[in-house]
Amino acid sequence: MLDETGVWYAEGHEMGKIVIDAEKCNGCEICINICPHKLIRLSERMNVRGYHYTCFEDPEHHCAGDALCAEMCPQVAIKVYR
Ligand code: SF4
Repeated sequence: MLDETGVWYAEGHEMGKIVIDAEKCNGCEICINICPHKLIRLSERMNVRGYHYTCFEDPEHHCAGDALCAEMCPQVAIKVYR
């Protein structure tokens, strides 16, 4: 589901989910590269600072909430919910 900031998130998740703050993201792609399930992608949209931000897509609920993405994000833009 797409929220008002253009960020995808999973509803009814069983394991975990993340929410990415699109306005904090600088598109460094660290989270994309570290996610073991490849659930994060770069958006075609840009935030107000001119960066392509990342989006979380997990339609099959593979996110385990392990938080590697949030721990590595230099912008502290990712919140993890378990
Ligand atoms: S690690 Fe953080 S700043 Fe970098 S692309 Fe992911 S959400 Fe954006």
